[in-house]
Amino acid sequence: MSTPASILIIGAGQAGGCAAAALRAEGYEGRITLAGVEPHRPYERPPLSKAVLHDASAEETLFLHKPEFHDGLEMDWLPGADVQSLDVGARLARTATGDALDFDRCLIATGGRARLLPGVPPDAPNVHYLRGLDDARRLRQRLQPDASVIVIGGGFLGLEFAGMARRMGVAVTVCEAGPQLLGRAAPPLVGAWLQARHEEAGVRVLCGAAVSSVTARADGVSVSLADGVRLDADFLLVSIGQLPNIELAQQAGLAIDNGIAVDVRCETSAPGIFAAGDCASHVSRFLQRRVRLESWQNAQEQAQVAARAMLDLPAAYDVVPWFWSDQLDMNIQMLGMPNPALTYLTRGQPTEPKFSVYGFDGHQLRYALVVNSGAEMTPLRKLMSAGASVDASLLADPARPVRETVKAALG
Ligand SMILES: Cc1cc2nc3c(=O)[nH]c(=O)nc-3n(C[C@H](O)[C@H](O)[C@H](O)COP(=O)(O)OP(=O)(O)OC[C@H]3O[C@@H](n4cnc5c(N)ncnc54)[C@H](O)[C@@H]3O)c2cc1C
Repeated sequence: MSTPASILIIGAGQAGGCAAAALRAEGYEGRITLAGVEPHRPYERPPLSKAVLHDASAEETLFLHKPEFHDGLEMDWLPGADVQSLDVGARLARTATGDALDFDRCLIATGGRARLLPGVPPDAPNVHYLRGLDDARRLRQRLQPDASVIVIGGGFLGLEFAGMARRMGVAVTVCEAGPQLLGRAAPPLVGAWLQARHEEAGVRVLCGAAVSSVTARADGVSVSLADGVRLDADFLLVSIGQLPNIELAQQAGLAIDNGIAVDVRCETSAPGIFAAGDCASHVSRFLQRRVRLESWQNAQEQAQVAARAMLDLPAAYDVVPWFWSDQLDMNIQMLGMPNPALTYLTRGQPTEPKFSVYGFDGHQLRYALVVNSGAEMTPLRKLMSAGASVDASLLADPARPVRETVKAALG
C-alpha cells in the first residue's frame, strides 16, 4: 500500500502521543487524528505515583510534549473524545457523541484502567484509585501528616504510593493478599527485602491479608480481613492491578489474547489496524510466551514500531522487557520476568544499599532486578538481548564489574 492519507490514533496517552510524534519524525505528512477520552494532552503516568503526589509543580514535567511541539505536530487532536465503535471494513470510528472519524490506518492505544475492588462502588466515599492525573491530584489533597490510609495491593504501584505517603507523614497500612510483596514481579527474597525496607520506614505491611469486606463512610473506611482483623483509616487506595481497555477491539472483531493480539509489527488480526501499549499483547522472544506488558518502555517502543509499520517501513518489536520503580530512597530496575523455574543468585547483599538479583536458566540470564545500580542495566540488557551464555558466579561476584563480565561473555 502507498502512504496512508490519514491515520487515526485512538487513545491519547503515552503510546498514542508517542506514535503521533514518531509518525511526523518519519516524515509522514498526511492527516493524523488523535482521539482521547482525557481532557489533557498526552502525558506519562510514572510520576503520578511518585513526585506528583507531593509536589504539584511536578505536573509540569508529566507531559510528553511541550505545547509548542504538540501544536507543531499539526494533528486533529480531539480531547474528551470517547471512541465507542470501530468499523474495520468501512474504515470508520465513531465517538460517544456520534462524531465519525474516517481513516486509512488506525492505531488502538487505549491503555488500561484500574481493576475495581469487588463489592465496593468505585465512587464510594474515601475510596481512591490511581490511574490518571486527576486521581493523583485527589490523592495529593489527602496526603496530610495526620492522615491515615490503607493500601490494598502490594504491587509496584501500591508500594510507591505507600512509600511516598509515609514520607509525607501519613500512617500507612499495606494489605497484600498473597504471601509476599511484588508477588507477580519478583522472587520471594525480593518481596521479603522490600517488606523489611517499608517496615523500617514505618509502613505497616500485612501479607496474606485477604480483604473480606470494606465499609466506606463519609468519615473514613473500615477494612475487614479474612482472618477477622479489622482496620480503620481515613481513606483507602485500591491498587490491585489493571484491566486492559479492549472492548473497542472486541466490538471490532479483532483477535484478543490477554489484550489485543498483535504481531511483531504491532499489527492486529485486521490488516491496517495496529495496537500498542498496555492494551496490546505480543509474543516475547525473551519470555517465550505471549505477554501484555504494562510499562513505560513497552508503550513507548511499541508505539514507535507501530508508527513505522503504519508507514510500511521496516519495523519489529523485539526488546527485553524493562521496568523501573522508585520507592522510599531506592531505584529498582527490572529486566525480564521472574519464574519459579529459574535459579536465583544475588550480587551483593539485600542489607546493602546496592544489590542485584539475577535469575538464570542454566547459563542464560533471564531475569535481573537491580537496586540503586542502574549502570548495570545497559550491559545486562545487551547480554539478555544476545541470548549469550555467561558464568553465573562471575556475574554475581561484586568484585567484578558487570560490564566486564558481559563484555567477555559477548566475545
Ligand atoms: C500511577 C502509575 C505509575 C506507573 N509507574 C511506572 C513506572 O514507574 N515504570 C514503568 O515502566 N511504568 C509505569 N507505569 C506504567 C505506564 O505508565 C503505562 O504502561 C503506560 O502509561 C501505558 O501507556 P498507554 O498509552 O498504553 O496507556 P495510557 O497511558 O493509559 O493511555 C491510554 C489513553 O487512552 C484513553 N482511552 C481509553 N479508551 C479510549 C477510547 N475508547 N477512546 C478514546 N480514548 C480512550 C485513556 O483515557 C488514556 O488516556 C505506571 C502507571 C501508572 C498508572
